[in-house]
Amino acid sequence: MHNSSAKPFSYLTLPTTGRVAYFSMEIAINPGMPTYSGGLGMLAGDTLRSAADMDLPLVAFTLLHRKGYFQQHLDGTGQQSEEVQPWNPEEFCAEEAARVTVSIEGRKVTVRAWRYDLTGQSGHVVPIYLLDTDVDGNSGWDRGLTDHLYGGDTNYRLQQEIVLGMGGVRMASALGLEVNVFHMNEGHAALLTLALVESAMGGGPEGFATDADIELVRQKCVFTTHTPVPAGHDRFSSEQTNRIMGSDRSSHLERLGCFKDGMLNMTLLALKFSRYANGVALQHGKVSREMFPEYAIDSITNGVHGPTWISTPVQLMLDQHIPAWRRDHLYLRNAIDLPEDAILKAHARAKRELFAAVEQRSGHKLDPQMLTLGFARRVATYKRANLLFTDPERLKKIAAEAGGLQILYAGKAHPQDEPGKALIREVVERASELESSLLKIVYLENYAWDLGALLTSGVDVWVNTPRRPYEASGTSGMKAAMNGVPSLSILDGWWIEGCFEGVTGWAIPDGKDDAEEATSLYDKLENAVVPLYREDPVKWARIMRTTLALNGTFFNTNRMVQQYTRNAYYPVQLLDGARVVEAAFAD
Ligand SMILES: *Cc1c(COP(=O)(O)O)cnc(C)c1O
Repeated sequence: MHNSSAKPFSYLTLPTTGRVAYFSMEIAINPGMPTYSGGLGMLAGDTLRSAADMDLPLVAFTLLHRKGYFQQHLDGTGQQSEEVQPWNPEEFCAEEAARVTVSIEGRKVTVRAWRYDLTGQSGHVVPIYLLDTDVDGNSGWDRGLTDHLYGGDTNYRLQQEIVLGMGGVRMASALGLEVNVFHMNEGHAALLTLALVESAMGGGPEGFATDADIELVRQKCVFTTHTPVPAGHDRFSSEQTNRIMGSDRSSHLERLGCFKDGMLNMTLLALKFSRYANGVALQHGKVSREMFPEYAIDSITNGVHGPTWISTPVQLMLDQHIPAWRRDHLYLRNAIDLPEDAILKAHARAKRELFAAVEQRSGHKLDPQMLTLGFARRVATYKRANLLFTDPERLKKIAAEAGGLQILYAGKAHPQDEPGKALIREVVERASELESSLLKIVYLENYAWDLGALLTSGVDVWVNTPRRPYEASGTSGMKAAMNGVPSLSILDGWWIEGCFEGVTGWAIPDGKDDAEEATSLYDKLENAVVPLYREDPVKWARIMRTTLALNGTFFNTNRMVQQYTRNAYYPVQLLDGARVVEAAFAD
């Protein structure tokens, strides 16, 4: 699948070892630190947790986000309001003495870093550096540049990206860190390439980079794209780029072909300067190659960090039956032989813990015997949180056939996303209209790490209804799978790879429109999920076992980090004969 049109490079100069610096605008580091908004940050955190568990020589850079991603409140009608969540870096991190500067709108902005030590299961430490511009000497505006994750307008965003990319590279050298591989997690970090080019040229924005300078940088950089929609890629007008980065840098980037339709395109910049790029699921790699046909874009399917997402009752059960799972997740394959009652009992405990939290948070008392569906994620319109309500009468009928149905919702809409906020109101409104002794729908406030773990492990079925092909990967269904919880989902993102019908869950077939896909969703619930849940606990337990055995072994970040290591960081060099064989399997 490596396009012949990709620029050739010498395999001999590729790193085979050495330190990786991982750059991400958001990282879910610790449940007490609101430094992430959703899936991208959680994936970054899970990646680092696995890197620490697997003793990888890796460091990470992100922004401090001092004011935190917002806390969500919902009123009785589902109207969302937002509150800042300031947090205290000194409680979690140590301040580094190093200072670096970046240039923003012609001003010199000083950047410092806070170090968080992420420790793996055998004691290996992955240091995470959180960049901070709230430093004496910076202007009031500049001191706020590292306050808000995805806050403000595109001017604010571009300035943050300068701090992350250029500030991060300079901080790495100020800290004396020798780095062999720079990993850009999404295009937000793409400006790190510019700092590397400038340092290859001996500093300063002036002058033309030679092909050799660019090649030197390309050898060091790898890039992961996460967005299958063109509008989701960061772009900045040339006016903005000129004003904020200076005309030298801006015209330099234009000459290098990083502008598309008159806008600086961060994905293009990252692709131009990377020797390796990937999407986050097989389907997403394919969609990305169609979007950027000039580039070789591989796929490494996402995962989740097992010990972070498997509930305590299921972990204890696994410790008893498959103790080696902690050392090596491939042993989870032996879940295929777990006693049925062991997995049912462990899940029942996780379900009780979830219901206790639901009661505490919302006052709703749920029935532990009833079939319970979960739907929780960032609220974006393409995820279609309202698809289940397309035909309320049909939903009521299914609830009656199931002997009762409970549906738990959660998710934050971005503060500026009015259609997303309207979706939350719609779900809350429907929930109260449909409320009966047989159908209970609860929308839980403030979806975050803790609630995510409770929901993905405690419900009976995880539901996902994205509009294809907008879901690059999705990870919450993987969290469910690691708990043995099957998914009922549209065949998009990871589920194309993870779905074995009736074995790891159920697929909602593609339809020509929302209504047709809603009908398929009801059909699957009515004909497959409900009868099995109602009539046959042993068969249900077997689905839980196969879900854990087949998907728990693969959709975890230990496997994913190994794939990054082998394919991206220190690529395995094939003999020519082997490459012919690889070509035979290309898409
Ligand atoms: C896992 C997770 C997500 C990502 O969910 P998707 O299914 O990938 O959309 C978002 N928010 C939180 C809090 C999570 O734990």
